[in-house]
Amino acid sequence: MADKSFNPFEMAQAQFDSVADMLDLEQGTRDLLRFNQREFHVSIPVRMDDGNVQVFRGFRVQHNDARGPAKGGIRFHPMETIDTVRALAMWMTWKCAVVDIPLGGAKGGVICDPHNLSQREQEGICRGWVRQLSKNLGPLNDVPAPDVMTNPQHMLWMLDEYEAVRGEKLPGFITGKPVGMGGSLGRTEATGYGVIFNVREALKELDIPPADTTASFQGFGNVAQYAIELYTQIWGKVICVSCWDQQDQTSYSFRKSGGIDLEELQGITDRFGGIDKDKAEGLGYEVLPGDAWIEQDVDILIPAALENQITGDNVGKISDKVKIIAEGANGPTAPEADKEIAKRDIFMLPDLLANAGGVTCSYFEQVQCNMNYFWEKDEVIGKLDTQITNAFEAVNEMRKSKDIYARDAAYVIAVGRVAEACRERGWV
Ligand code: GLU
Repeated sequence: MADKSFNPFEMAQAQFDSVADMLDLEQGTRDLLRFNQREFHVSIPVRMDDGNVQVFRGFRVQHNDARGPAKGGIRFHPMETIDTVRALAMWMTWKCAVVDIPLGGAKGGVICDPHNLSQREQEGICRGWVRQLSKNLGPLNDVPAPDVMTNPQHMLWMLDEYEAVRGEKLPGFITGKPVGMGGSLGRTEATGYGVIFNVREALKELDIPPADTTASFQGFGNVAQYAIELYTQIWGKVICVSCWDQQDQTSYSFRKSGGIDLEELQGITDRFGGIDKDKAEGLGYEVLPGDAWIEQDVDILIPAALENQITGDNVGKISDKVKIIAEGANGPTAPEADKEIAKRDIFMLPDLLANAGGVTCSYFEQVQCNMNYFWEKDEVIGKLDTQITNAFEAVNEMRKSKDIYARDAAYVIAVGRVAEACRERGWV
């Protein structure tokens, strides 16, 4: 986002165009799917703690709802742009289609930095965003969820505002709610666990025991922390994580060759996934530049922070030892880097498959809300595992049968399903 030369929406459209060619899609379908169906720009006035009013800009983009209500998170970020939200909305459509859940794609964003906002000010942004958009959101047309720097508390404020505006209880309006307030057990863990379900299956395919592997992560937020938890449970060893340092406005990598200790690092991490560098040093971690995570001699790289992180500039630093890249973040690999990775012997687990655990569990949350009956955590995680493993198998099968790159295989399945839904509805 900070890099002005990088336009994620152009990247998303280029990815779509190349798959449209592979699928030989008719022109009308291309014209429909390479743009978003609807987008909204809003201004949100918030009375700040100092008494002044500050106006925040926000967006909601609905890419496609042929397969069901549009679905996707809302991000809070100081560098948010409409083109980032457009790209992310399109990626949500493909993500829901590749895991075969009956939902379309959307994304929202507000330009703000929650690091510098009180809880009351954040509540004002959440409620204001919903007030501006309430006519265009709803359980049957567009369902928001958490994303970068938003959490279950934000979701509950949004739900409360929506229900107040509508004058009725509508728990299916939003997912990622707190457990006990319409949220699903396992939702917090779901994205990170989904990444590792994919890694586990890819390792099976490559015939490598997880206990023989090491990994390096970019990011130490919700996705990375739960991915590390599950990866460690299957006996993998994480030797490096990198994250943003709010105070120094840069990122650092933290390395321990014997393996990081998740709980120890969580004990010195803020709520946005920022690790205290002095305390980490005290605990025996080597503190390295932010980019060091990518050049580690590991078997698995897991970018789980933001988009555009593996680029033409740093792709050459990826060690020959790396066998799997699992994209916990959305859009972390730029197209030039992707071309290089495709040429190497690396099993790419693309974002639309690798991080689909979150939205899959959001779908389970909707199902549970509709029944008003909530499952045990084991049941949620078991169903999640089945759904993600089935999606992995379909992508892997497509990859092998057509001898194509795994990202292309996932896209062929996803775009094919969405195009089919548009045709069946008589749209194209
Ligand atoms: N924000 C998550 C994603 O990018 C989850 C979206 C959702 O649950 O709707 O997939």
